[in-house]
Amino acid sequence: MSEEQLKILKAHVPPFGVFGSPRRNTALKKRYKHTGIDIYGPIGTPIIAAEKGKIFSVYKEIDSPRAGNTIDLFGENYVTRYLHLETMKVDKGAHVEAGETIGTLGMTGNAKYARFWITKGQEQGRSHIHFESREKEHTDVALDPMILIVENKILIPVDVSFF
Ligand SMILES: [Zn+2]
Repeated sequence: MSEEQLKILKAHVPPFGVFGSPRRNTALKKRYKHTGIDIYGPIGTPIIAAEKGKIFSVYKEIDSPRAGNTIDLFGENYVTRYLHLETMKVDKGAHVEAGETIGTLGMTGNAKYARFWITKGQEQGRSHIHFESREKEHTDVALDPMILIVENKILIPVDVSFF
């Protein structure tokens, strides 16, 4: 990861899309913290495996109305999750290399109702990936993906050269 790539990534994560930002479930009237980062970009932008590992679940939007098309990857060091995908190019059980394309950025699930965000050189849009990283032994513990990316522990999950 170069400084330039990191700069591009950060420009595509809105202030309301950072890890730990306050969220509210209006139906349940509950407050919670955002468990990942939202990276905004054009539909069709390649999404890549943040780590080498094994695909352990592939959910279609029909099975996952909020998360939309979702891939979960059991990596060498972390579990990473990729939500709201437009397309998914891997099957459950597949082994992937770090940096391999696994799908494309989309607007499936509740991303259709996400806030708009304008990024440089791109029209205002709602399309984004919600990306999570979790401890392998305690998958209920969400880690801040931006910290892991900055520390070079995982790759940026988006091919930022498309931005
Ligand atoms: Zn999110």
